[in-house]
Amino acid sequence: MTRPLPPTRPAPAPYVPPAGGTAAPEPSIAACRRAWLLLCGAGVTTLAAAPLLGTDPALADALQDACNAGRLPGALIEAEIGRALLDGPRDATLLAAVLLAAVALDRFRGGRRALLLAEACAARARRPDAGAVGAAVLRAHATLVLARRAPLRDAALVQAEACRIEAGRPATLARNAVLWTGVRLLCGAPLTELLHYAQAVRQAIPADGASAAARQLDGRLALFRALAGSSHEPDLPAVAPDAMQFGCWLDCLQAAWLRGQTGAARAALAAARQLVTPLTPPCELLPYHLFGALTLARLRGIPGLGAQLRDHRRALQAWARRAPDLAGAMALLARAAEQDAGGGARALCAYEAAAALAQSDGQAWIAALAWEGAASLCGRLGLAGALPGYRRLALDTWRDWGAHGRVRALVQAWDAVPATLDPDQQTRAARAGTVGELGIAIAHEVNQPLAAILLHAAAARRWLRRGQPDTARALEALEQISACGRQAGDIVRSVRGLARREGEAASTFALDGAVGEVAQLLRALMVRQNVQLETRLQLAERQVHASRAQVQQVLINLLLNAIEALAAVSDRPRRIVLESASAGPGLVELRVRDNGPGIAPADRERIFDALYSTKPHGTGVGLSISRAIVRAHGGRIECVPAEPHGALFRVVLPVRSMAATAPPSASHDHA
Ligand code: ADP
Repeated sequence: MTRPLPPTRPAPAPYVPPAGGTAAPEPSIAACRRAWLLLCGAGVTTLAAAPLLGTDPALADALQDACNAGRLPGALIEAEIGRALLDGPRDATLLAAVLLAAVALDRFRGGRRALLLAEACAARARRPDAGAVGAAVLRAHATLVLARRAPLRDAALVQAEACRIEAGRPATLARNAVLWTGVRLLCGAPLTELLHYAQAVRQAIPADGASAAARQLDGRLALFRALAGSSHEPDLPAVAPDAMQFGCWLDCLQAAWLRGQTGAARAALAAARQLVTPLTPPCELLPYHLFGALTLARLRGIPGLGAQLRDHRRALQAWARRAPDLAGAMALLARAAEQDAGGGARALCAYEAAAALAQSDGQAWIAALAWEGAASLCGRLGLAGALPGYRRLALDTWRDWGAHGRVRALVQAWDAVPATLDPDQQTRAARAGTVGELGIAIAHEVNQPLAAILLHAAAARRWLRRGQPDTARALEALEQISACGRQAGDIVRSVRGLARREGEAASTFALDGAVGEVAQLLRALMVRQNVQLETRLQLAERQVHASRAQVQQVLINLLLNAIEALAAVSDRPRRIVLESASAGPGLVELRVRDNGPGIAPADRERIFDALYSTKPHGTGVGLSISRAIVRAHGGRIECVPAEPHGALFRVVLPVRSMAATAPPSASHDHA
């Protein structure tokens, strides 16, 4: 060794392998910190540059086992580093040094020095004489160090190197396969590739090689097989969890979530939580946080779980800042799950954003999970118009990724629970059919540039926060942000244009006839809700030129809102008055008045905002889309208080609407 140790330092304790290889000691961050300081004092690169002295496969295996179990004994690292500083490094020291670098990166601002150390160890491990330990070092470098700092695709390449030089010890092979498939999964590899790889490795392991890592590989294989539909089990086979293995619990968590067994998923999540350490590799940590959030979202309503869900979401967001290509979509999906658990219709936009980002990053399985989330939310909101679209997206995305088993399971589940809604939901769904989908279309289109804006903003922040801020690249990111903003504006304009173009297909029809049809459509619902409807249609056969369907849609929205508002009334007869009248030269007017609780003055403008709703299951799109439709026709809509109770909505329309007459190229904004 090139540098003497301080005389006060006690000789490192001899290494004693854990009995039976099961009960690994608790990790000790304090011990790791001591070892790190020791190593820093000795000069970081010295250790790795020294030649390897002898081999100690027992120690290397013990270190590897400790990592496999997700528990790295700090004392062990310290002993190994200490021994290297005293006697010169051995093969196991390299592994200890990489693991230490990972801890240093994560916990005590190891930064550049830790990266240098890990890089130097990896360089040494690439020498032909490094053998099995070399592979272990490279794998640790890839999954624990590079994965935290470099683009994960680079980490995957280093891991591939480790696989190539793998000497074939069963435990290492199996663990390698688990980590490798985890990293490849994050990088968007097709399911068939992952399945074939895991199967090939499993076959190479002797049948009696029932090490903890082999059991974990079995769990991973069961998961992949069920997703791919290549197993004959009707359902996902249960994974027998190894109490000490984080990875086993992670696979259990995912399998239980996919089976819809929320209780089992919650138990697996709780077990996994106990086993998270600073050395849990990102390829396991990220799915843990994602499925943690998805599981807790399903348990919405159970007190106390919201904070845990938030923790998972925050952890993913922190990762997304470091590795947006990998964790960005997961962070958005966790946010969607959080909003979903809160019962908000906004979650639909968040699911859209997550799916869009996942798809553009080539992470099909995350996109498929996001589409599933959107479909199940639509089912709960009664948005029957949008439901089939989301289900189709989920199925297509799973199928494209190779998850035919998942497709079959979902088709079966969705057939068993057809989208039949109660009559109230059906009426709501009829409204959502046209109106909701326009809103959802806007959300879908606009979310893509919005997601890109977030990514570019994160990049700009990174460039500016560097020791030497890179203003050129930050400016580039800002340019991209402007471009995305313009793109979002274009989309909004084109959707408004769409509303106008739909209007061009307008027809000339008798307004009172169309209004009468709507009254007829909703009459049964009103009878059930104990609402009296009075119609005063005063236009006789007067014709208007407009989109009949859209005008009716606006009326349906107003009437449904009135019916819903009247549900709160019990001290007087519930009444709605529906009127049509002339409103001056070339104008007609529709009025919907109810004697419900009315709308507070402060809310009167907000009710027209997109997604503003005061109802527990409201979507908040009805009035905003109604206003867009009316404005596209060159008309106006307003809300005033009704006397003595309730709300009065007035819709004034030109007899010949602008939507019917505006030239298609008109791009100025009516809304
Ligand atoms: P949603 O019906 O999904 O909540 P809307 O855009 O249709 O969305 O309405 C927004 C909000 O406006 C409603 O949540 C409600 O608070 C208020 N609102 C609409 N119509 C009425 C009404 N007739 N009486 C009282 N409040 C109303």
